[in-house]
Amino acid sequence: MVIHALLAASLAFTALPAQAAAVDCARVKCLALTFDDGPGKYTPALLKTLSKAGAKATFFLVGKRVEERPEVARQIVARGHAIGNHTYSHASLPAHSDNEILDELKVTQEVIEDVTGRRPTMFRPPYGHTDERVLALAGQTELAQILWTHTTLDWSLRDTKKIKATVLKQAKRDGVILMHDVVPQTVQVMPEILKELKKRGYHLVTVPALLRGKGPTPGESYF
Ligand SMILES: [Zn+2]
Repeated sequence: MVIHALLAASLAFTALPAQAAAVDCARVKCLALTFDDGPGKYTPALLKTLSKAGAKATFFLVGKRVEERPEVARQIVARGHAIGNHTYSHASLPAHSDNEILDELKVTQEVIEDVTGRRPTMFRPPYGHTDERVLALAGQTELAQILWTHTTLDWSLRDTKKIKATVLKQAKRDGVILMHDVVPQTVQVMPEILKELKKRGYHLVTVPALLRGKGPTPGESYF
């Protein structure tokens, strides 16, 4: 009895932080916001906005930008967001040789792990340019490929009202929305977007949370 009570108490104690982080997307309406091309100078403002709203997101980081802003990359991880590899130089991968592709992916893995202590398990191909060869090489690098269900084209809209309208129109259960934390208008309008999404009942989660333990698996492509 005593042992049982102690065990229950210790489980209750350890379960609290995990429960706060884990949302069951089988039971509630989930949406994954993803931000590519950072870390950039607007990323810290975005991190504050996400924390204030209790929202989690996924950041696909460019290796050379992690080297420029290591502190911001560490903040992303410290605040409980997921991170992925978005190559070292933001290269269009299918145009490159096997060795060049492996370099783009592996060097970024090393940079991100050195800086954050976390080795990515996901990658997103720049410009969405990918093929079977790229996917196989990602698999060799122990990476899953994460695409998206909707892209906002925020980099081309560059307008807070249009970006907000696009995200709200695209939002649907279990969706993955592609945005960029290097687009200032996206970061500016994010408080309004989060407020509306929460009003509509969405839980904003990371990509692994959305996959509900069924991934990411290296060499597989998602969304
Ligand atoms: Zn990109």
